[in-house]
Amino acid sequence: MNRIIEDFSYLRKTNCKGVYLDNAATTLCPDEVIDYMSEMQKYNFVNINRGSYKLAEETFEKYELAKKKILHFFGAENDYLFIQTTGATEAINIVARCFLEDNIKQGDVILISECEHHSNYLPWRVICEKKGAVLKKIPMDENGNIDIENALCNDNSDIKLVSITHVSNVLGKKQNVESIVEICKKNNIPVLIDGSQSVPHYKINFTNIGMDFFVCSAHKMLGPFGVGGLFVKKSIFSTMKHNYVGGGMVLDVDKLLWKDGTEKYMAGTPNTVGMLGWGATIDYLNKINVFSYNEHIKKLADLLYEYLKNKKEINVYTQDKDTASGIISFNINNIHPHDVNEFFRNENIMVRVGNHCSIPTMRYLGIKSCIRASIYIYNNEDDIKKIMNTIDKIIY
Ligand code: PMP
Repeated sequence: MNRIIEDFSYLRKTNCKGVYLDNAATTLCPDEVIDYMSEMQKYNFVNINRGSYKLAEETFEKYELAKKKILHFFGAENDYLFIQTTGATEAINIVARCFLEDNIKQGDVILISECEHHSNYLPWRVICEKKGAVLKKIPMDENGNIDIENALCNDNSDIKLVSITHVSNVLGKKQNVESIVEICKKNNIPVLIDGSQSVPHYKINFTNIGMDFFVCSAHKMLGPFGVGGLFVKKSIFSTMKHNYVGGGMVLDVDKLLWKDGTEKYMAGTPNTVGMLGWGATIDYLNKINVFSYNEHIKKLADLLYEYLKNKKEINVYTQDKDTASGIISFNINNIHPHDVNEFFRNENIMVRVGNHCSIPTMRYLGIKSCIRASIYIYNNEDDIKKIMNTIDKIIY
């Protein structure tokens, strides 16, 4: 596993002296991807949608190829359309504005889980405020599972969308989205899956899941910042209106006739280098067979989980058996997480402390904030030992 460290300048440069355990926020980007983006920035920095010269055409082909690679990675090429966004947050906002806003009325319902990130909460809250609709949370049991069947049975309102995180960014809990989608389909309710935390860890096949919308960000799966995707099921795409208006998405500017493919979401110049970088990231993930690291991640996460669980001074919020997502959240009794973080800072251990942009999850847990260590492919046992040793020093 140490071989992988060689692929990341940051880890080589620091000789792994810092312990990076904030992977659920952003993963590191491998040199291969950075170098490719730099090459594209130097030699292919042209506007793909406007130029009809050779370099623009060549760059456009690379851009289209990147898109194909992304769709293929998710088993999405047959049934889904890809809309480039700046990340998961923008993708969810597009669904709220372009799919839901005109379709929802007073008294209608949007269902989410109790542990959504604010990016999969606020867009729906705002729509509900505007339209007099109701945002409801599906209760979770003590293991973090949601009972969608029960939620649908108990609601006679018109449910306009179910929007669920695949993997919670605080609990690491993975929802059974296949079964959620199946049940919603029987009830003709569209489903959005927020895959921000699942894409780095699980081999996902969109066609097998069958949701209507899937969103994710490249920077959570070793890719660059500023690029992500909204994947829309072909069968639902025609019900969506355009988003921003501007260059590149209009057929007739006088009649306000919009293009009707995914171009209708491409007003303005796209982040081409970002997309090319995401395509290169997919190549890298395939090359290293990223999901072959799952056992490694789980082993490290289990080690930390068991250690924390055995300390009477510590509350662990990650549910048992969910360590495969590499997310371990906890608090040390009677010590504010920000104070705990001071110890980590001094040891150059990089974890996340706070409400993790998920106050709903904090409310579910009955806390205000916590510490989150999130593990990825390049972490090793030394990293885990270092955080455990530091915790030992804090509690003794
Ligand atoms: N949903 C979840 C579950 C997340 O963890 C995050 C990022 N923390 C987002 C949505 C938003 O992602 P981005 O900031 O890349 O748009």
